[in-house]
Amino acid sequence: AVIPDFESFCEQIRTIYLKTLKNKSGKVADYIPQLARVNPDQFAISVCTVDGQRFSIGDSGVNYCLQSSCKPINYCLALEELGADVVHNHVGREPSGQSFNELALNSRGLPHNPMINAGAMMSCSLIDRKNNIADRFDKVSKTWKALCGGKDVSFNNSVYLSERQTADRNFALAYFMREKNAFPENTNLTETLEFYFQCCSIESNAYDLSVAAATLANAGTNPLTGDTIFQSSTVQNCLSLMLSCGMYDFSGEFAFKIGLPAKSGVSGALMLVIPNLMGISIWSPRLDEVGNSVRGVEFCERLVEHFSFHQYDSL
Ligand code: GLN
Repeated sequence: AVIPDFESFCEQIRTIYLKTLKNKSGKVADYIPQLARVNPDQFAISVCTVDGQRFSIGDSGVNYCLQSSCKPINYCLALEELGADVVHNHVGREPSGQSFNELALNSRGLPHNPMINAGAMMSCSLIDRKNNIADRFDKVSKTWKALCGGKDVSFNNSVYLSERQTADRNFALAYFMREKNAFPENTNLTETLEFYFQCCSIESNAYDLSVAAATLANAGTNPLTGDTIFQSSTVQNCLSLMLSCGMYDFSGEFAFKIGLPAKSGVSGALMLVIPNLMGISIWSPRLDEVGNSVRGVEFCERLVEHFSFHQYDSL
């Protein structure tokens, strides 16, 4: 097994969980009522290793919406379909240093990277674009199901409707990109935006989502089913951008301190990937000023204090 003494590993994760649980700082996202109403005290950790060892603690069976943690997977889907050259004619791969919904594009008039809103809408415009919107959404949700080891994901329609109703900034970003000719020809803006909001509104729990994180840690092959969901080159590209851009405008700090690819979402979701070792799903709804889960970040900090998981710890 990849973690020989898994029991003592789990014991230490439990200790870190209990220490982190005490942190009640931060505020739940309140830009839509569906997120504002979530019980802020919830906290879940789920681990899945690349050979299928599993451990969960806390609210790991409670569903939450993916929000921005849908972005890496949409980027992977675009890469698988079109290859990196085509995808990166439409989206950059540089951290923006700005908030996830900043009205800003790079010097070529493209989104800075696929891990912020503008870039994620661009990924959505690229996925299965010849097909109708229902089949395109099916493709995304079937991919999440395969990543989670065959467990169906849910869809939170109220979150979707709220997102769509309060989407002025995202519409502004999309029009800005259209003005710069950033989208592929004949892109339907409204459809693309709605597709993006739908992806953000997919729901699952930490237990199942840890398998998705483990699939990325395992180079695209699901450790439970053995199914290859993404090519390793796709996952490599995705993890590179999660490392440099996955934690909003805290990404540089996170790469420095934690040294691992991760992606957060305003629901309090955090997907952490330890390449060749394990995926960890963390969920706790209270957010810091940039929009990352407070406990999520603290858990990661404590984790690398305990274990040599920082990618340069081996030096
Ligand atoms: N639905 C949110 C938005 O598009 C998701 C952003 C996020 O998780 N940071 O604004």
